[in-house]
Amino acid sequence: VLTADSSKLLVVDDDENNRDMLSRRLARRGYAVEVASVGNEALEKINQAHYDLVLLDQMMPGVSGLDLLRLLRATYTPSDLPIIVVTAVDQSQSIVDALSHGANDYVMKPVDLPVIAARIEAQISRSRAERRGKFGDALTGLHNRTYFIDRLEHAIEKQKESSEKRGATGWLSVFLLDLDGFRVLNDSFGHKPGDAILIDVASRLQSKVPTLGAPGDVTLARLGGDEFAILVENLASPFQVKHDAEVMRAALKRPLVVEGRSIQVGASIGIALLNSGDAQAGKPKAQELLRDADLAMHKAKDLGKNRYEVFSPSLRAHAQSRMTLALDLAHAIDRGQLEVYYQPKIHLASRTIIGFEALIRWHHPERGLISPNQFIPVAEETGLIIPIGLWILRQSCQQLKTWQQKHLCSPPLSMNVNLSVKQLTDPELVHHVEKTLKQTGIDPDTLKLELTESSLMTEIESAKDMLSHLRELGVGLKLDDFGTGYSSLSYLRTLHFDSLKIDRSFINRLATDRETRAIVRTIIDLARTLNMGVVAEGIESEEQLQELVCLGCDTGQGFLFSKPVTGEAAERLLETPANAA
Ligand code: C2E
Ligand code: MG
Ligand code: MG
Repeated sequence: VLTADSSKLLVVDDDENNRDMLSRRLARRGYAVEVASVGNEALEKINQAHYDLVLLDQMMPGVSGLDLLRLLRATYTPSDLPIIVVTAVDQSQSIVDALSHGANDYVMKPVDLPVIAARIEAQISRSRAERRGKFGDALTGLHNRTYFIDRLEHAIEKQKESSEKRGATGWLSVFLLDLDGFRVLNDSFGHKPGDAILIDVASRLQSKVPTLGAPGDVTLARLGGDEFAILVENLASPFQVKHDAEVMRAALKRPLVVEGRSIQVGASIGIALLNSGDAQAGKPKAQELLRDADLAMHKAKDLGKNRYEVFSPSLRAHAQSRMTLALDLAHAIDRGQLEVYYQPKIHLASRTIIGFEALIRWHHPERGLISPNQFIPVAEETGLIIPIGLWILRQSCQQLKTWQQKHLCSPPLSMNVNLSVKQLTDPELVHHVEKTLKQTGIDPDTLKLELTESSLMTEIESAKDMLSHLRELGVGLKLDDFGTGYSSLSYLRTLHFDSLKIDRSFINRLATDRETRAIVRTIIDLARTLNMGVVAEGIESEEQLQELVCLGCDTGQGFLFSKPVTGEAAERLLETPANAA
């Protein structure tokens, strides 16, 4: 009785009688059985088709069973291809040999059918379970990264062959789908609900698989974290990807229910397409295609999330130029290309300088001055932000000490230094700040560390401890670009911030937009209620300044007073009459 999923066995035995009898009896038990009489024939068969298990006679002329076993094990692991060796009854040494050469099990002649059937079953089910573990994702039951890449490589290969043989042109597509804001969800709800979200998303995507292509043409996997990948082979046309991406987005439209609350989860999708012409040219490999999809996915995120983007070669060029930038950046400190600029912080009512914000500049030998908005993200991605951040800290604290000695005022001049959230992951950070304070001899509360609201919120749990340690050193903590993230108000206190910097975009619209004015007033009131300081950034006009003074904001920065300038220029600003004590 052959069923569609009956296991496939290969019986290798030089003795015709043994071979026939064993294969007939196993076939009667429902196995699909093939036979081979010599080692070479067995090898050939195994290299051409997949067998669930091999029964191997140990005593064969020519290539012995043991030789064959050794050869096979060089390529196939015991879970890829289980092998049971059939040995003569009186040779315990040969059993030891077989097992030590990688046989999964052995049976003795004359073969007892129920025993051999039980051993075959045991080995096959174990190897299936192991392969599932290797190729499957335990959490969602989808395929995993290893399987996906394997499948993708096969698909590329298949496409290449069919276009070589039949001149057929075909398309395949790779979708990389990343949930938006999953980290924040995971941090605020905990891991269990986070897992439940992933399982739900997996089953929603799974339910759409039949819509995306014919059976066998669609492979869905979870690559890790909140990242899913979908391979669609034999596309009707490259334009199908648009439809497919919409199908995936539609699958997530219905809100998810987590701990009784309903949540809308969006996804950013990156798409890479391959046609048989490309495959033939031998260019793309699975990993590269996946990386292209990843670049497109990040572009979708950058463009506002919850959307899809198709990869284009210009994206790769962009990634490449970022890589070159990263390489150059690695030497920027040693080669003296970095410089700290200083922007004065102003007491608005008296228009005097109360301190500075340190803002990094990079003098690139070929590209000229590069803005921190361009290279700080690269520094964060590569980890270079840690040494660069320390350099800025040391540099600006030394500068502050010099100015404090020359310009006595009360309270003493202070320095704001921007910290990247990535620096909060450096276990040495607190130690370094402490050392810098000691070496430069500045009073801890004249150093203010600024953290950007939007970046902080994604790392909130891990940041908490670090911020409290920094606070214990006595330094100030400022929440930068306030209003651009989604801080819950309760966090402001628990995270130990002592002041807020209202984002430039609000100050910009302050004089012209009533709603913005209401928001700014609310922020200022909020800060006061929480007993926090408030600073306005990006003041460019007298109007904005007057508005802020009316609303009760006492400190600010902006081009109205001064752009960020070099250390020497900043020193000259300190010496202008209004500031010279
Ligand atoms: P930020 O910390 O919010 O700094 C304020 C930015 O606004 C600065 O840009 C400053 O030049 C600019 N700005 C100040 N006043 C005005 C104004 O009146 N009008 C306009 N249009 N712009 C004004 P910059 O120096 O290009 O820095 C951009 C961002 O790069 C900073 O935003 C900060 O997030 C980051 N950054 C700069 N230096 C460092 C650093 O040393 N470390 C780290 N981690 N990040 C830095
Ligand atoms: Mg800042
Ligand atoms: Mg800012």
